[in-house]
Amino acid sequence: MGYNQHVKIDLHIHSTASDGSLSPLEILAMAQKLNLGAIAITDHDTINGSKDALAFGIPPYVKFLTGIEISASPPPSFHCPGSFHVLGYAINIDDPVLNHTLALLQESRKNRNPKIIELLNRMGFELTLNEVRNEVGECQIGRPHIACLMVKKGFAQSIDEAFAKYLSKGKPAYVDKYRIDGARAIEIILGAGGIPVLAHPFLLQIKNDAVLENLIITLTEMGLKGIEVYYPEHTPERIACYTEIANRHGLLITGGTDFHGPIKPEIRMGSGKGNLFIPYALYEKLISSLT
Ligand code: AMP
Ligand code: ZN
Ligand code: FE
Ligand code: FE
Repeated sequence: MGYNQHVKIDLHIHSTASDGSLSPLEILAMAQKLNLGAIAITDHDTINGSKDALAFGIPPYVKFLTGIEISASPPPSFHCPGSFHVLGYAINIDDPVLNHTLALLQESRKNRNPKIIELLNRMGFELTLNEVRNEVGECQIGRPHIACLMVKKGFAQSIDEAFAKYLSKGKPAYVDKYRIDGARAIEIILGAGGIPVLAHPFLLQIKNDAVLENLIITLTEMGLKGIEVYYPEHTPERIACYTEIANRHGLLITGGTDFHGPIKPEIRMGSGKGNLFIPYALYEKLISSLT
């Protein structure tokens, strides 16, 4: 309690280690400037962002959790049209199984990019992977970077349009990537001493709350420990619903903005679309579950 009631946190942030625009150092500096109480860097299928932040040294007053966001497959009996992502917090970044698995996932991401470019080329869009690489530097190339170049070259009006017309699941330049099972993602995070959390349940696009709750029960049996209840796209009604589900099943509640920096300009670190407040108490509960 006390001053902590007014302190906010952001436990879902992407760095240049995946498809964010800010380096881990820039993220730490921004978190400090915004007076955030705690942050986590949760890159897609890589912990290099968290590793760099720790190597740099965490500034005083900002609590830091190592993090990951794994793109996984939902359990076989659940159809999720949207994104099934498992967050992991407070993971041991030296865990060999985690590092080995992430290396495989990154390899698959790398192999996927030329296939996306080839499909776009066949549709008549002239762009190369080298051009994408020149735009983004050394980070892990993903669809947002390809979308960015498409906008720059005038092939789409906006990143959203590039996704909606070409790059999203079901669109002509979509290429799937290797995914591990949700159960395995949970197991690996637990094995690395971390806390597995279901990311942004709204983005699963499961319309029926009873089906969503059944999925969450199944994941909880697999070892899931929390739900990302606070998220920019979650309305107050969704937040209430996910909070109830979390409480019914003894799950932790977390929250984050999915900040990516200027590549996703409508989302701000610590406040999402402007009014998201994720209380520090959630961070305290999360870390107290570790002991
Ligand atoms: P990838 O890692 O290549 O599968 O791309 C996933 C990233 O693309 C996520 O970080 C999202 O932020 C971004 N993304 C997914 N769908 C869209 C969309 N419709 N518009 C803009 N960005 C998107
Ligand atoms: Zn991303
Ligand atoms: Fe995600
Ligand atoms: Fe994310």
